Amino acid sequence: MSKRIAMVTGGIGGLGTAICRALAAAGRTVIAVDLDSRADRLAAFRTEVNGLDIHFAAADVSDHASCGALVRGIEDTHGSLAILVNNAGITRDSTLRKMSRGQWDEVLDVNLGSAFNLCAHAIGPMQARGFGRVVNISSVSGQTGNFGQANYAAAKAGLLGFSMSLAREVAGKGITVNSVSPGYIETAMTAAMPAEVLARICASIPAGRIGQPGDIARTVAFLSHDDAGYITGANIPVNGGLFMAA
Ligand code: NAP
Repeated sequence: MSKRIAMVTGGIGGLGTAICRALAAAGRTVIAVDLDSRADRLAAFRTEVNGLDIHFAAADVSDHASCGALVRGIEDTHGSLAILVNNAGITRDSTLRKMSRGQWDEVLDVNLGSAFNLCAHAIGPMQARGFGRVVNISSVSGQTGNFGQANYAAAKAGLLGFSMSLAREVAGKGITVNSVSPGYIETAMTAAMPAEVLARICASIPAGRIGQPGDIARTVAFLSHDDAGYITGANIPVNGGLFMAA
């Protein structure tokens, strides 16, 4: 069988880079998709993944038409897209009273709209081929809500409903759709938090530590494995026990 092709959005970010590396280590050809506006970060990413079967494609995944062109371009250049990891995400935190309509729209468009945009273009060809793995990166905030994150929590909770609904639609076609809900993971996103807030959160994590990008990446690699075909519509919390639910 030829190598499976995987796309990871937000692929040069903290979790994205780890996911790209884990999928490449699992024998996938990986396309990291990200905004091309960060030349310095892109250069660092290229250095970090040098020698691995990881490529870069620039796109704004909040734009529906760009996602169509992206999927077609990847299929033309690399081959059939088998694994889609919707990982791109942003925060624009604010209490609701101060939140602008722009902050709401931007967060919903990037975190949730992107999953629709890419699945809308990628699912049809996956169905025709009878195989696909979709993994959507949600957040513990989507399960519990979080102060100052009405936009982000709504988008991440939306991803859970989106994943379960799409999973039902395509389960009979060899496609699984699952979500992963990270807790607090050591990336630029958490480094931007006030140190005292982060310390307080870490003290409340049963595992006694902040998560590492590899904790998420290994979960994504597991869900996107050919042998994980009977797991669909599931949400895997990877949060050190911060939030537990049956
Ligand atoms: P990150 O380092 O900021 O990576 C996210 C990447 O997505 C960045 O490279 C970002 O580019 C890119 N991106 C933003 N908007 C985009 C767009 N419109 N089109 C394409 N790419 C875009 O964040 P991370 O910590 O790795 O988070 C990855 C995912 O995990 C996110 O969905 C996040 O919500 C979720 N998550 C993270 C944590 C955590 O503790 N880190 C916890 C729970 C969930 P720019 O940097 O240029 O914006």
